[in-house]
Amino acid sequence: MYQTFRDYVAGILIDLDGVDSQLVFLVMLIIAAAIVLDAITMIARKKRREVGLDIKRAQPLSIDGSKSLPHRHYVSEKQGLAGKPDALTVEDGFIIPVERKPLAKKLRDRYVAQLLVYMRLIEEFEGKRPPYGYLILGPGARRVKIDNSERRQAWLQEILDQMRGILAGNATVATPHPKKCSRCDVREACAHRADIAIEVPRTPSISKIIQ
Ligand code: SF4
Repeated sequence: MYQTFRDYVAGILIDLDGVDSQLVFLVMLIIAAAIVLDAITMIARKKRREVGLDIKRAQPLSIDGSKSLPHRHYVSEKQGLAGKPDALTVEDGFIIPVERKPLAKKLRDRYVAQLLVYMRLIEEFEGKRPPYGYLILGPGARRVKIDNSERRQAWLQEILDQMRGILAGNATVATPHPKKCSRCDVREACAHRADIAIEVPRTPSISKIIQ
């Protein structure tokens, strides 16, 4: 096998002996450029896959960590919100936020809330309300589409109002979870554990809000 390859290369070199050296150099340069270009394309494709941008009709606009498509950091004084999506893509004329959670095992309310905040910021700074965003969950990069519905935004508003109320001096209220408390090491000494805490109304989980 090695011998065959050596004979093949030797044959090429003999053939090239009569060819203009500048032409050989040019051909080698083109081949090297093609190899480098191919490697760059592969890396870019891998990066897109990681952040969930391997969507057929999507046009990447920004990717965190990319020099050619730098990320966008939105800071809104008006809304009192700020955010830096992992990526932005353009789909059907809309700017769509993409947020990656590589360690996530399941969809969580806080991920949805973060994406909904991004959608508010994009609407303010880019001038068009995104109809949805994407969460990319886990090492397998499972893509979950989150609609930017009025109901979800109302849910987010409730949480923001609670947080701003606490910042303004409202009392904080513990909302312990029975399952977590039952496994907690300090449950015996905790005055807030689920089985003795006063029941307080909780904001419903967004995963139960379909639209
Ligand atoms: S027992 Fe107390 S500290 Fe432990 S999880 Fe419940 S509320 Fe939190």
